[in-house]
Amino acid sequence: MTKLFFPLFLTICLIVNAQTDARIYDIISEVSSERIKADITTLAGFGTRHTLSDTISNIRGIGAARRWIKNEFDKISTNCNNCLDVFFQRDLVKKGTNNRITQDVWVVNVAAVQKGRRYPNRYIIMSGDIDSRNSDPTNFTDDSPGANDNASGMAGALEAARVLSKYSFESSIVYLGLSGEEQGLFGGKGFANYAKENGWEIIGVFNNDMIGNITGVDGVVSNRDFRIFSEPVPPTETERQRGRRRFYGGEVDGISRQLARYVHKTTKIYMPEMNPMLIYRLDRFGRGGHHRPFNDAGFPGIRIMEAHENYTQQHQDIRFENGIEYGDRLKFVNFDYVKKLTSVNAIAMASLAWAPPAPNNVAIGGIVEPSVKLKWDPVVGANGYKIYWRDTTSPTWDYSKYVSDISEYTLEGIVIDNYFFGVAAVGENMHESVVVFPGAAFR
Ligand SMILES: [Zn+2]
Repeated sequence: MTKLFFPLFLTICLIVNAQTDARIYDIISEVSSERIKADITTLAGFGTRHTLSDTISNIRGIGAARRWIKNEFDKISTNCNNCLDVFFQRDLVKKGTNNRITQDVWVVNVAAVQKGRRYPNRYIIMSGDIDSRNSDPTNFTDDSPGANDNASGMAGALEAARVLSKYSFESSIVYLGLSGEEQGLFGGKGFANYAKENGWEIIGVFNNDMIGNITGVDGVVSNRDFRIFSEPVPPTETERQRGRRRFYGGEVDGISRQLARYVHKTTKIYMPEMNPMLIYRLDRFGRGGHHRPFNDAGFPGIRIMEAHENYTQQHQDIRFENGIEYGDRLKFVNFDYVKKLTSVNAIAMASLAWAPPAPNNVAIGGIVEPSVKLKWDPVVGANGYKIYWRDTTSPTWDYSKYVSDISEYTLEGIVIDNYFFGVAAVGENMHESVVVFPGAAFR
């Protein structure tokens, strides 16, 4: 290398290093498909994990499953100097609440909280589900291994805890097993209430529900595609906010959508071999998932899941019929794919938990002017900000400009009408908050 080239080489290295964090690549490689396989095997081995199933046995039923999950989190905590606060969170759901609750039942969630150093009350949640079902949603005795739905998501949350508990973060991360999903999203409702009552500031819920199937009912096989579902705007928005959207935009820029874009972006940067699909809807057509109760409570939340579902392998009694093997069995799960989607979660959570809080009171101006102006409240702990913009038809924040420690900026020569805009806070380690869409206009 000549004297001339060496400084150039160094400069390029510094630029690359400024945009990526080597620890994120470590996290990707530390996620183990072997441990995930062992966990899914154990969970499927409880026979049924139906919400109304046996709670006394230590080998069969949801009681055995949740005690095993808690015990795993406890072990992980022991290995990180008791860095996790592990507990059951429970609510009594009364018989007849809906037609799937055929007896009074305690819906019991298992939570493991890794407290953030700097912002302990800001929480990022990765959830999977404990419970399973077969063809009849009220059948709590027959086998329903639920290997993909949703031992895969649960195993992902356990494995993310093993990997991320070796690191220290600025915000808190919660690894969560939710129950009562198949009976009507009861575990998510209960935990969202618990978070509200305790004044948690939830900055993102990553609900993982079915992250292990790569062979679709449509014949497509892909171990790279996956979907990120997000609702367009929060159901809690006010009439005034709704009215505003008509004139200032934001129909596709709610808080959950920004979280979805965040996961899309971190995947594209650190796992370019993957194909994340932003799906512009709350969930699959007419179907439900455990991010919804968090959305209902006003929190940003998304569903991460496989791209190609196989309906003969979910919510089915185990059987052969017309040459088709029905049932959510262990052998249909692709553990390497679960590992990949677990990594997708882990790196997005790590990045978010290392980032400063997103800016508040982001406002935009520039009506009938040749330039756009943005201003926001300064963020303590931010080194700078990234102004993002995109074509109005683009799903992703395609253009950006880094600005150092200021709290307003004019984008010269860019006309407000032709793009959407947002602002993210950037930490000294270059990790970014989610992008905030302006909530106010100024002249
Ligand atoms: Zn299900």
